[in-house]
Amino acid sequence: MSVVSVAEARPDVGSQAMQETLARQREAFLKAGPPTLQERRADLRRLRRAIKNNAERIALEISGDFGNRSRYETLLADVWPTLAAIRHAIRHLPRWTAPKRVSVGLEFMPARARILYQPVGVVGIISPWNYPFQLAIMPLIAALAAGNRVMLKPSELTPRTAQFLAEFLGSLFPAEQVATVLGGPDVGAAFAGLAFDHLFYTGSTAVGRQVMRAAAENLTPVTLELGGKSPCILAEDAALPAAVDSIVSGKLLNAGQTCIAPDYVLVPRERREDFIKLAGEAVQKFYPMLAANPDYDSIVNERHYRRVVRYVAEAKERGVRVVEFNPAQEKLGADARKLAPTLVIEPGDELLVMREEIFGPVLPVKSYSRIEEAIEYVNRRPRPLALYYFGEDEKQRDEVLNKTLSGGVSVNDTLLHVLIEELPFGGIGASGIGAYHGEIGFQTFSHRKGVFLQSRFNGAKFLRPPFGRITALMLKLLMSR
Ligand code: NAD
Repeated sequence: MSVVSVAEARPDVGSQAMQETLARQREAFLKAGPPTLQERRADLRRLRRAIKNNAERIALEISGDFGNRSRYETLLADVWPTLAAIRHAIRHLPRWTAPKRVSVGLEFMPARARILYQPVGVVGIISPWNYPFQLAIMPLIAALAAGNRVMLKPSELTPRTAQFLAEFLGSLFPAEQVATVLGGPDVGAAFAGLAFDHLFYTGSTAVGRQVMRAAAENLTPVTLELGGKSPCILAEDAALPAAVDSIVSGKLLNAGQTCIAPDYVLVPRERREDFIKLAGEAVQKFYPMLAANPDYDSIVNERHYRRVVRYVAEAKERGVRVVEFNPAQEKLGADARKLAPTLVIEPGDELLVMREEIFGPVLPVKSYSRIEEAIEYVNRRPRPLALYYFGEDEKQRDEVLNKTLSGGVSVNDTLLHVLIEELPFGGIGASGIGAYHGEIGFQTFSHRKGVFLQSRFNGAKFLRPPFGRITALMLKLLMSR
């Protein structure tokens, strides 16, 4: 079984076990060379079959970790995206892996040039707790498709899923190909310090900084999939009921514990009260009950629960209007860690709810008078992972798209851009570095090697010393173009 269990071990012993796993994987990589297209497809097919067979088990483990996590949500957001990504990769791998011929320009004809896509070797993946299966497996798919070996460190905050991942992957792949390392922040820090050929991290911006620092010691390239506050902009002409349905459901998926959840909403001042009323109706429609509803999720642990409760309490203390929706008026005990969907109306920017990524079912609503104000509000803050725009006028939509920078965008809906395999998924600035999914993911884990193929008859000798009249003539010709 490919588990390096260092949870209880002393950090140095743990580090040594990880070092040895890395050394064994690298040795195996050098010995076997890049896997063939057939081998990669076979690996992906095996993984797909196993995911299908274990879908219910995955839902069970994640729910065990959260306290309550909707089975439907797990199948929709943790399991299905991985199956779709594997399908897509299997289908397109021949094209992705094929050397790409590129033009050499007139000067170098009849030489040829091509780009080769090569596995980089051993890749490290550090994954978070909020979609503990999907966010471990999606980068694994891309890394395997690109022909690499992988060491995975899942989050300690979802221990049942982490243990499951270790056993699951251990039953599918030898430890020289895929190994799982279990442990918390100490193990994570030691893991990030390993001399991987690429390090892929998903999690908070604060830890992302530490990961990049650790990787810099080895000059290990990183992909950082981080978080932040993703805004929703409602335009004057937004179709309100549909927009509110999308925002509320996007916010309440996984009880708001989604990296691309709409974090706050910017609404035209005169539409604010309509928005609040429709949001209440949407909650009632989607979740007529909260406590007794298996599809309304818990906050993952006590610390995160208290964190979100504190945001709302602080807003109330400062006299900010807070609207809580509890359709069946149930008592939400702290034990179950379920929080009622809550709107915080016009909070000041100094409040925690506007400074921190919320990661819970709380939605600040801020109003604006002119669209330029909304654009400016977004642009004066760290660049978000996602931005949502609701409106019909295409000119204004394009203005918002052109003038704001965010990892990705969904227009007239929330979240869905993450499911389009051919779109790059990743952040910018504080929300991340690099991207993956589909072909972009394959390239993230590949080295793009530029290869120049000289032809037997060529003019290169004219560019070599001793320089003289012919070189001068050649230069004149080259520089005149
Ligand atoms: P986290 O940073 O606390 O933990 C993520 C992983 O990092 C865990 O496996 C943890 O053990 C490990 N870790 C902790 N300290 C470490 C260290 N010093 N060095 C190396 N690894 C370390 O993040 P989280 O709370 O698990 O996740 C929530 C955050 O992740 C949110 O900000 C969310 O927006 C972001 N997120 C981003 C994406 C994305 O795709 N961009 C997806 C999901 C979550």
